[in-house]
Amino acid sequence: RRERALADTHLPVTTRDGLRITVKANVSSLAVARLGAGLGAEGSGLVRTEAVFARSRTAPTVEQQQEVYGAIAAAYHPHPVTIRTWDVGGDKPLDFLPSWPEANPFLGERGIRAFREDPTVLIDQLEAICRVAQEHRVNVLFPMVSSLDDVDWARERLAEAAARAGLPGLPDRLGVGLMVEVPAVAVRLGRLAQGLDFISIGSNDLSQYTLAAERGNPRLERWSDPLDPAVLQLIRFICERAPEGVVVSLCGEMAADPDVARLLVGLGVRELSSTAAAVPAVKAVLRETSLEQLRELAAGALAARDAGAVRELLHQ
Ligand code: PEP
Ligand code: MG
Repeated sequence: RRERALADTHLPVTTRDGLRITVKANVSSLAVARLGAGLGAEGSGLVRTEAVFARSRTAPTVEQQQEVYGAIAAAYHPHPVTIRTWDVGGDKPLDFLPSWPEANPFLGERGIRAFREDPTVLIDQLEAICRVAQEHRVNVLFPMVSSLDDVDWARERLAEAAARAGLPGLPDRLGVGLMVEVPAVAVRLGRLAQGLDFISIGSNDLSQYTLAAERGNPRLERWSDPLDPAVLQLIRFICERAPEGVVVSLCGEMAADPDVARLLVGLGVRELSSTAAAVPAVKAVLRETSLEQLRELAAGALAARDAGAVRELLHQ
C-alpha cells in the first residue's frame, strides 16, 4: 500500500466523484522544500520563514531572502509556494527582532503584531517576496491577524514593498491571504477575507485559542486536541463563510494524518499542507473516497461527544 502511494504520488488528487484536492508540504528550509517536491507535494502551503532564517543573528537582506525564497519556489515549479511573513513571538524568537517580556507570550506581540512599531524588517521581506513573484507563482500569507485593521495595515505594507521593488502594482503572480488562527477572524471571515485570494487555517493555533489550552504542553493534551468538536465546528463555519472565490486551505499539523485529512475535506477544506513525509499517504487516502462519504464522516464528527469519539469514528 505504501509502495502504491509512493508510485502514484506525483499524480494530482481527485476523489472518486471528481473533486480536485490539492496536497502541499510545509517548508522550514530549502532541503525540506526539495524533500516535499520529491514526495509529490503540489507546492508549499506554508513556508515558515522564521524557521528558514532561525539562525540569522542579523536581519537577512532583501537579496539574501530573494535567493532563498526563489530557490524554494523553483523547487516546486510550476506549482505555487505560499510564503508566510515572519511569524515571530510566542514560542518563536528571532535574534534580529526585539522582544519584550510578556506574561502570556502566545497572547502577545506575535506575527504581524510585532511590526507595528517598526515595519522595516517586514517591508524588506515583502519586497523580496514581490521580486520572487515576478518569476514564480507565489502567495504571501500574513500570520496572527486578528482584526480588519491588521489586514488593511498588512496590505498597505505589501503595496509599499511592491512600490519599493519598482513595481507599479502587485505582481500578477502574487496571491494574498491571511492565516485564520484567531477565533475572531473566523467569526468575521466574510469581512476580513474580502478581496483576498485565499485563507489558510492554522489549526495548531486555532485549536489553542479556541480551547484556551496552550499548544505543545503535554499536561494540557486532554484540553488542546484539534479534533475537539468545537474546533471542527469552527473549521466548518470558516469553510461556509469564506467569501466566494477565496480558496480555503489548512496548514496545521492535523492535516498530516490521512484519516484527519479525509475529515477536513468532508468539512469543506480544499487544500491541505503539512509535513512533507505525509504527502504520499494523504494523497492516496483521498483518492480512495468520495466527497459524499467524507461529508457523512464530517457530519458524524461534528455531532460527536468529544475528540476521543471523533478519533474512534475516524478509525472505524
Ligand atoms: C498553525 O498555527 O496551525 C500554523 C500552521 O502555524 P505555526 O504552527 O507555525 O504557528
Ligand atoms: Mg500558527
